[in-house]
Amino acid sequence: MDTHDTRQQLEQMLHEIDSTTQVLLAEGAGDSSEISHVDQHPADTASEISDADNQNAVLENNADQKAQVVAALQRIEDGSYGRCVECGQAIPAARLEVRPEAARCIVDQEKAEAAGQA
Ligand SMILES: [Zn+2]
Repeated sequence: MDTHDTRQQLEQMLHEIDSTTQVLLAEGAGDSSEISHVDQHPADTASEISDADNQNAVLENNADQKAQVVAALQRIEDGSYGRCVECGQAIPAARLEVRPEAARCIVDQEKAEAAGQA
C-alpha cells in the first residue's frame, strides 16, 4: 500500500502531540507546586486540583498516543503497516483514515480494550 501520505499524517500527529505536551509542561502540569498555594486562594482549591488532574490525564493520554504513532511509523518502515498486529488481517482503509496509528483491526482492538491492554 502507498504509505507516503500516511507517514506525513503520522509525523504531523507526532508534532502536534509534542507541541501539546510542551505547552502543558510549560504551564506546570505534572508539577503539584500550585497546590502549595491553596491557603491563599481557598475557593480555588477544587478547580486547581481538577485542572492539574486534567492536565496530567492529557499528558498521559499524549504519551500513549505518541507511543502508538511511533509504533505505526515503525510498521511503515518494516512494511507491516496496515495489518492487524494480532491477527495479520488488513485493517480496513476507512479505519486507518480515522485512526492512522491503529495497530489492530476493530475486532482485536475491542478484545484488547476488554482485556485492559489498550
Ligand atoms: Zn485483528
